[in-house]
Amino acid sequence: MADKIRPVRGMNDVLPDETPAWQHLEKEARRVLEGYGYAEVRFPHLERLELFARSIGEDTDIVEKEMYTFEDTGGDTLALRPEGTAGCVRAGITAGLFRGQTHRLYYIGPMFRHERPQKGRYRQFHQVGVEAFGAETADMDVEQILMARRLLSDLGVGGLNLQLNSLGKPEDRRAYRAVLIDFLEARQDQLCDTCRQRIPRNPMRVLDCKVEGCQAVVRDAPAISDHLGEVSQAHFDRVRNLLDAAGVPYEHNPRLVRGLDYYTDTVFEWTSDQLGAQATVVAGGRYDGLVTEIGGPSTPAVGFALGIERLLALMDDERIPGKAPDAFLAPLGTGVEASALALAENLRDRGLRVWYNCGGGSLKSQLKKADRSGAPVSLVIGEQEMADGTVLIRDLVTGDQQSVARGEAAEIVRTRIG
Ligand code: ATP
Ligand code: MG
Repeated sequence: MADKIRPVRGMNDVLPDETPAWQHLEKEARRVLEGYGYAEVRFPHLERLELFARSIGEDTDIVEKEMYTFEDTGGDTLALRPEGTAGCVRAGITAGLFRGQTHRLYYIGPMFRHERPQKGRYRQFHQVGVEAFGAETADMDVEQILMARRLLSDLGVGGLNLQLNSLGKPEDRRAYRAVLIDFLEARQDQLCDTCRQRIPRNPMRVLDCKVEGCQAVVRDAPAISDHLGEVSQAHFDRVRNLLDAAGVPYEHNPRLVRGLDYYTDTVFEWTSDQLGAQATVVAGGRYDGLVTEIGGPSTPAVGFALGIERLLALMDDERIPGKAPDAFLAPLGTGVEASALALAENLRDRGLRVWYNCGGGSLKSQLKKADRSGAPVSLVIGEQEMADGTVLIRDLVTGDQQSVARGEAAEIVRTRIG
């Protein structure tokens, strides 16, 4: 035998016993998001590297070390998308969408980051992303938080917490940054190596470090919420008031930041205590400056991304619909295949889901497969049924069987499945 070719580390196959959960999640996501007026967009998994460098930020972990980047044979430097917002905005600009109207968009698909693989963290992972363009008011932020909550609750996920913060405008952040750098520099020796390097380049990312020593330090760090300008303060208050009015509890977490530079004002996360270290299922916020950053017209925007793998770990499996067929068709003996295939097609013409057992086999082994399929009935065509134009219908729950004319089979199966 030839050597096995290993899969790429951190990139998983989704096998048939797992796909029903994925499909259920995707279907529910489409139903809920479209119910709020979101329309699906699809854009390439590959973009110019420059798009991500400019939007996510040169000094972020993602751009510094997590991207899959390569030069194609034409000499263009491309990268596999590490997140969806940049590509979505680029697509909107390319299509000339941003002319003052509101657009609510969503996408579902893979993202790629060269991170250390562990539970809840992969190199190819999947997101449901939503982006709303053209609304600067706080009701859009809150509508998205409510929409994420509805999707999570419709999928049977409980025990979630909402964390909220405001990052202010870029000018608020510049002032805060200086204060934060002073604070962190005075405590350099208590920080991890990575965070020490982050201080001059991306000090806010230190607030998000998962290393315990760093977390202890930042507990007393100055908070961005104490450095908000008037407009940002008013926006944040409005978001909080609307959440209160909607009866959504949240925690104001002054250390909540995002690993991408483009966020302004509101940031939020839905987290679960059942996920261990990788606790965030939904992360998002407002990014009013990004569309201009990528060369489009000034357009306020807010969005979030939901990590599909993390959500699957929390989903209530009881709600995943089964895939069982309406009938299982067993050809028994030789020379019966043509009639059996014809009956299967005839039943399918009438809208029934029929699994036909290619290759036949003994009655016992075929009935075992029929049971495993979850079908309520098995149809058997043997030599006798061949000869007299009938089919044997066996109820797989009660064991009752009856021989009927083939033309009546569809009606009987239909009655049985109700
Ligand atoms: P984290 O702090 O967990 O690294 P992040 O801030 O990098 O998250 P975002 O870029 O905001 O995450 O992505 C949104 C969501 O996508 C996350 O909350 C998470 O559910 C999921 N996600 C991000 N990176 C990964 C990954 N490598 N593997 C699996 N899911 C991921
Ligand atoms: Mg990350």
